[in-house]
Amino acid sequence: MQRAGKGKTPRRAKKPSNIEKDPVGVYCRIRPLGGEDEECCVEMISSSTIQLHAPDGLKANRNGEYKETQYSFKKVFGIKTTQIELFKDVAKPLMEDLIHGKNGLLFTYGVTGSGKTYTMTGSPGEGGLLPRSLDMLFNSIGPFQAKRFVFKPDDKNGIEIQSQVDALLERQKRDNQQSVPKTPSSRQRADPEFADMINPEEACKSETVDEDCCYSVLVSYIEIYNNYIYDLLEDAPFDLIRPKPPQSKILREDQNHNMYVAGCTEVEVKSTEEAFEVFWKGQKKRRIANTQLNRESSRSHSVFTVKLVQAPLDADGDYILQDKNQVNVSQLCLVDLAGSERTNRTRAEGSRLREAGNINQSLMTLRTCMEVLRENQMCGTNRMVPYRDSKVTHLFKNYFDGEGKVRMIVCVNPKADDYEETLLVMRFAEMTQEVEVARPVDRPICGLAAGRRQRNQAFKEELSRRLEERGGPSNGEDPGLMNQLIESLPPLPSCELSDPSDDQTLPRLIEVLERRHRIRQMMTEQFNQTANTIKSKLQQFDSQLTAKETALYDQQSKLGEKDKVINNQRTELERLEKKSKTLEYKIDILQKTTEMYEQDKRSLQHELESREQRLQKELAEKRRLEQRMQGMVTDTRAKWEKECERRVNAKQLEMQNKLWVKDEKLKQLKAIVTESGGGLGSSPTEQPRKPERPSRERDRHNAQKRSASPPPPSDLGQTPLRLNRATVRAVQDPLPTSTPSSSFPSVASCISDWEHRFPTDSGSQSREPGTPQFGNRTLTPCHSASSVGRRRGQRWAPETEAPAAAFVYELDKEAGTRGNVFKTRGGGQAVQFTDIETLKQECPTAPSRKRRSGSGEGPTQTDNIENRAPMPNTSSSHGYQKRRRP
Ligand code: ADP
Ligand code: MG
Repeated sequence: MQRAGKGKTPRRAKKPSNIEKDPVGVYCRIRPLGGEDEECCVEMISSSTIQLHAPDGLKANRNGEYKETQYSFKKVFGIKTTQIELFKDVAKPLMEDLIHGKNGLLFTYGVTGSGKTYTMTGSPGEGGLLPRSLDMLFNSIGPFQAKRFVFKPDDKNGIEIQSQVDALLERQKRDNQQSVPKTPSSRQRADPEFADMINPEEACKSETVDEDCCYSVLVSYIEIYNNYIYDLLEDAPFDLIRPKPPQSKILREDQNHNMYVAGCTEVEVKSTEEAFEVFWKGQKKRRIANTQLNRESSRSHSVFTVKLVQAPLDADGDYILQDKNQVNVSQLCLVDLAGSERTNRTRAEGSRLREAGNINQSLMTLRTCMEVLRENQMCGTNRMVPYRDSKVTHLFKNYFDGEGKVRMIVCVNPKADDYEETLLVMRFAEMTQEVEVARPVDRPICGLAAGRRQRNQAFKEELSRRLEERGGPSNGEDPGLMNQLIESLPPLPSCELSDPSDDQTLPRLIEVLERRHRIRQMMTEQFNQTANTIKSKLQQFDSQLTAKETALYDQQSKLGEKDKVINNQRTELERLEKKSKTLEYKIDILQKTTEMYEQDKRSLQHELESREQRLQKELAEKRRLEQRMQGMVTDTRAKWEKECERRVNAKQLEMQNKLWVKDEKLKQLKAIVTESGGGLGSSPTEQPRKPERPSRERDRHNAQKRSASPPPPSDLGQTPLRLNRATVRAVQDPLPTSTPSSSFPSVASCISDWEHRFPTDSGSQSREPGTPQFGNRTLTPCHSASSVGRRRGQRWAPETEAPAAAFVYELDKEAGTRGNVFKTRGGGQAVQFTDIETLKQECPTAPSRKRRSGSGEGPTQTDNIENRAPMPNTSSSHGYQKRRRP
C-alpha cells in the first residue's frame, strides 16, 4: 500500500477532521452443510441478517438458556451463492478501486472448514475471488500494459521507471539467465488445477480504465505462520532431502509510513495465467513446507498482494512519462486468515499447540485492534491501537489508520459443532462493522489531454498505410523479399538418383547444400552483426533521445521556474508601479498644499509688513504728538507758573498794602480813642508794631514758587479786597506749614505766614476792628468729606470761630479744574495744575449770603470766609471789578 506523497499513519495524520469515512464492509457467507442429515445452526432470514440457533445438544446442556441470536451484515450470501455473485458484490468494487489507484483490503475470516479458502481461491471450475480479481484486472488493463521491467520495484517499497532501452536490456539479461522456458502465456498451457477456474463467459472487465496510462501488475505472496512472515515466491531452492527452515521476513515502514515486507519478492505478471502460475507456485511451496515442517495449513494466514503500477503516457501518447512523481501505485491485499477457532478445539499438541496459540494470538490482536479503533472512533478517545502486537495487524495498520477500503467476508459453517466458535466469529464481525476507515481519495490527474494513446495509435496506423502506398518497408514477412533471398543462394542441382551406383549426384548435392549452409551461416552472422549494430545504434539513439528528453524536461521545468519568477517579478513591478503612482499623487497634493501655504505665508508677511509700517507710522505720530503735548504742557506750565507767581506777588503786595492801610487806620483810631478817652486810664501799654509796608521785591523769591491763580487785579491799591472764590490749584503739603522747602507755596501759606507774623490773641473770640493781626490762628487742612472737596484739593479753614477777617481759597466748583497729585521728596504732596480756572469776586455784603459760625467744613465754609471777610470799604468791590478787566 503505497502512494507517493500520501500520509497513511496516525503520526502523519494532519488530515482534516471532515474527512469522509466508510465502515468496514462485512459480508457473511454461509457454506452448505457437508451432509444432508447434519444439524444446521445458522439460518439466513434476510439478505442482510442471519439467525443462529443453538444446537439441540447444547440447549440440553445449558438448560435451554441459549437464545436465538440475530446478526446483521452488509450482505449475507447464502449457501447457493455462486463465486461470481460473490465476486461481483464484494471484490469487483475493490478491483475498480485498484484500477483507479485506490487501495483495498479483503480478508476472509472464520473457523477452519467454513469456506475461507474456497471463497478466496476457489476450486477448479469454481474460481474464487483471487483468480477472478486477477482476471478482471488483466481484462481491463491488458492492452495498456507497459513493457516488462519498465516499472521496477526498488527495495524500499517504491517503484522506479526505466527507459524502454533499459527495460529491453534487463529483459535480455533475464532471458539469458533463465534456462527454463518462459512462463506460459496462454490459458491452455496453465496448470490444470487452475485451468478451468474461470468460465470465459463470466469474465469481468472494468469499463473505466484510463487508456492514457501504462500499467504493470506486480504480485507478491506471503504466509504468516506463528507470527513469522515467509515469502512464498522466493526463488531459494527447496532441499527435499535436508529441508532448511525458510527465512522469515521482517516488516518495515517506507518513507510514506506504509508497512511492507522487506525483501519480499514481487513478480511482474502480464496476464491472468502468468499471475495464476505465480500464485500456484507459492501455493505449492506452502503446501510442501507445511508437509515437510509438519505444519497445519489452516493455522497460517496467507496474503496475496496485487500491486498495480500506473503512469501516464507523455503528450504524444508514445512513451511513459519519465516522472517518478506521476507514478501511482495501488494495491489490493487478498488475505486468507487462519481458522479462528480456539486452540483446544484443534487438539494440537506440543510445538503445534504453541503455534496454534500464536495464531490465535494474531486473531486476538486483530480483535483487540478493532475494539480499540471502534472505541476511539465512538468515544473520541485516543487509545493506542496495538497493531504491533502481531504481524498481521502491523502489516495492515495503514488500512485502518489511513485510507483504503476494507472488506471482510465472514465464512460460516452452519454445522452444530462450530456453533460456539461461530458465535464468537459473529460477535467479532458485528464489532468490526462499527469500525470506520477513511475513504480513499481520487488520485490527481496528470494534467495532460485525454485520448493520447488513441491519437498515437491512429497516427501510427496512418503512417504505415502511407509507407505501404509508397512501396516502402512494411511487413517483415513479405513473400517477395523471401523469394529474392532464396534466389541469391546457389541453385540446387538435380536430386534424382538415376541408378544405385550414382555416386555423383549425392556428393554434388551435399556440396551444394554445404555451400548453402555456409552461405546461410555467413548470412546469419552478417544478419546478426547488422542486427547488433542496429540494436546498438538504436540503443544509442534511444539513450540520446532519453537524454534529450530529460534535458528538454529540465529545460522545460527551468523555463517554468523562470516563468514563475518572471510572473512574480511582474506582479511585484505592478505593485511597485501602483505604489509609485500613489506616492506621486501624494507628492502632487503635498506640493499644492505647500504652494498654498507659501502663498498664505507671503500674504501674511505682506500684511505683517504693512501693519508694522502702520505701527511705525503711528508710533512716530504718537511720539510727535507726545513731544508736542509735552511742549505744550511745558509751555502751559511755565506760562501758568509765571502767571501764578505774578498774581501771588500782586496779591501779597495788595494784602500788605491793605494791612498797612488798616494798621494806619487803627493807629489813627487808637490815637483818637486815646485822645478822647484818656480818663479811662486805660492807656495802651505796648504799641503794636508797625508793620512794614510790603514790597514786591522782598517777596519775589517766594513768589516764584507760588501756584498759579487767575490774574488778580494788578493794582488794588488801598482798596480793601475780598476774594470770594479762589480757584487755586493749590499744592499742599500734608502739614500746613509754609516752609520754604515747599516747592509750590500756596496763597494760603502766604497768608499763614502773615498770620504768624501778626499773631492774635488766642483767647479773644473776635478780632478787634482795625487790628491787622490774625492772632495765632493756624491754618489746618480741612479735609472735606465731600468728594468734590477732596478732588479740588484742600482748603484752609480757620480754627477759630468767626475770625475778624479770613481769606479762604476755594477751588472753583464750576470750572472743572484738573491737576495731578505727586508725592514730594519731603514726604508731602504736590499738585500740578493742568487747567485754568477763573477767579471771581463777590460782594461780601450780598444779601443772599448768610453768616454762619462754628462750621469749618464743606461749601458753607466758603460762605463763612466770605462773610467773615472784613469790608472796610464798600468800594472795594468796584475796585476789583476794575481790575478784572485786563
Ligand atoms: P477453510 O479454508 O475455511 O478452512 P475451506 O475453504 O478449505 O475451508 O473449505 C472446506 C471445504 O468446504 C472445501 O472442500 C470446500 O470445497 C468446501 N466448501 C467451502 N465452502 C463451500 C461453498 N460455499 N460451496 C461448496 N463447497 C464449499
Ligand atoms: Mg483454508
